[in-house]
Amino acid sequence: MDIRLGNGFDVHGFAEGDHVTLCGVDIPHTHRLTGHSDADVAMHAITDAIFGALAEGDIGQWFPPSDPQWKGAASEIFLAKAVARVAETGFLLSNVDCTIICEMPKIGPHAAAMRQALALILGIDVDRISVKATTSERLGFTGRGEGIAAIATAALIRP
Ligand code: MG
Repeated sequence: MDIRLGNGFDVHGFAEGDHVTLCGVDIPHTHRLTGHSDADVAMHAITDAIFGALAEGDIGQWFPPSDPQWKGAASEIFLAKAVARVAETGFLLSNVDCTIICEMPKIGPHAAAMRQALALILGIDVDRISVKATTSERLGFTGRGEGIAAIATAALIRP
């Protein structure tokens, strides 16, 4: 059996706004996340974890920020592409684990909805999808509330 692991990391900064989109779920907040797409930092980390497990580059190579067609794009387009590559290369997605790093907004109340939203895109059971959160103890850019970071791990198997 061929087992592959990949990791992903992403950061997006805050700007004036009324919600953030994390794992496809809109969460009311005093700020929005800035970026060329919808800036779904968690979904970007998961997408990069899958591309990493496949050793097929990263989200920026597949969807260059310089390309205007991705301006404001829903990040599920990016994740769906990575999932399609998993199938096309003969792998199965085993599980995904994502940690969102921020002081605010609170992630816990929305984690179940995020896992459900991801399950629809990833095509795996929700019990194979983990979304959790931590603060950085008020240290660094996430601690100062300047943005949100996310890390993710994906495991693939090829029977
Ligand atoms: Mg990003």
